[in-house]
This record gives sequence, C-alpha cells and structure tokens, in this order.
Amino acid sequence: MTTQQKITDSPIDFAEDIIHDVKNSREEGVLKCVQCGMCTSTCPAARHSDYNPREIIERVLDGDLTIIEEDNIWNCFYCYTCHSVCPVGNSVCEVNQILKQLAINNEIAWDKIYEYLGFADSYFNAAIGAIPEIFFTQIDEDVPGWWEFRQNLADIRDELNLDPPLLPDDDVIDEVSLILTITGFKEKIEKIRDSQEDIK
Ligand code: SF4
Ligand code: SF4
Repeated sequence: MTTQQKITDSPIDFAEDIIHDVKNSREEGVLKCVQCGMCTSTCPAARHSDYNPREIIERVLDGDLTIIEEDNIWNCFYCYTCHSVCPVGNSVCEVNQILKQLAINNEIAWDKIYEYLGFADSYFNAAIGAIPEIFFTQIDEDVPGWWEFRQNLADIRDELNLDPPLLPDDDVIDEVSLILTITGFKEKIEKIRDSQEDIK
C-alpha cells in the first residue's frame, strides 16, 4: 500500500496491499485467516468495546476499505495478543497498524492522533520516543507513585549502581531531525497539528 493510496482508488486488492506493506511481518497470514475468532476471544480491546479483530480481517478479505473510517480500529493498542494466538500465523495487530496508517494518509481520524504528536516531537528534540507531558497526570493516576519514581530515577539508578541512561548526543539528534525533515515526516506532523488547532 503506498502513501499515495486514496480511498477513491478502485478496485483495490486490499489484502494484497496489506501483505506487501512493510509493517506486515506475517507474509500471507491475512489470506489464511479461518475466522476462528481466537483473536477476538483474547483481545482486551474487544472485551471492553465493540471492536472485533476477527471482523477486521473479514472486512479486509472482503475488500471493504470503509473499515479505515471506523472509530473502532483505534481501540486496538498493539498489545500483540492476537498476533501470538492466531493459529494460522496472521497478525491483526499489524493489519491494524496498516489500516490506521491508511486512514491517516487519507486525512481520516487526525483528531485521534493529535494528542500523540508529542511522541513525534521527541524524535526531533531528543532522537528518542518519549511520553508526552500531557499524559503524565493520567499515568500517575493509573500507576500510583509513577511520577515520584520518574522524578527520582537518577537517584534510584545510582543506588542500584546503574550507569545513567544512554541518550543520543547532539549530532545524532541533528541527524535524526534532518532525516525526519527530508522524508516529509515533519511536514506531515505539522499539517496534522495545524488542522486540529484550526478546529479548536
Ligand atoms: S485468530 Fe487468526 S485465523 Fe482466527 S479469526 Fe483471528 S486472524 Fe483469523
Ligand atoms: S493487538 Fe489490538 S487487536 Fe490484537 S489483541 Fe491487542 S488490542 Fe486486540
């Protein structure tokens, strides 16, 4: 599936496109799906919402590209449970990553990724992925003590005789930033951010 793929393109061999996407590690697994439902029965997102991984594959095999417009696909959080239990070696998890990328390429659901753009910023600023600050309060609520742990991480490492974490130096940060700019990633992020800030 190319980044130029548009939902208006037709016909689309959806499953074939997914098989050849760089994010798919399971080769032709998607074509081997027997609709057993093991993925759905073990999926935490399915347990707590209407999201249904078995149905995702069914619709992909039906060539139903409207699936990228569904809110439900955003409930998958890439835990890879489906990937590990599928009896025929398919990975709904990876298929979902491809579907979401296709949605983004078609300017769908940008509101869903707006709050995560801080991850992208951290690659520009530090050449590593870092948790955006806007999530700190929620994480500390969900994992009591997390903030205190984070604040004291250097001391804790010291007590355990661990070296300080290895962080990219300035040259690496500049190189990564340049790559992200040349490849168009930066422009894409800015476009998504601007689109959402215009709405707010
Ligand atoms: S577990 Fe695998 S074979 Fe079974 S429905 Fe899910 S993707 Fe298809
Ligand atoms: S990776 Fe997504 S689809 Fe697979 S089990 Fe986890 S939440 Fe469900």
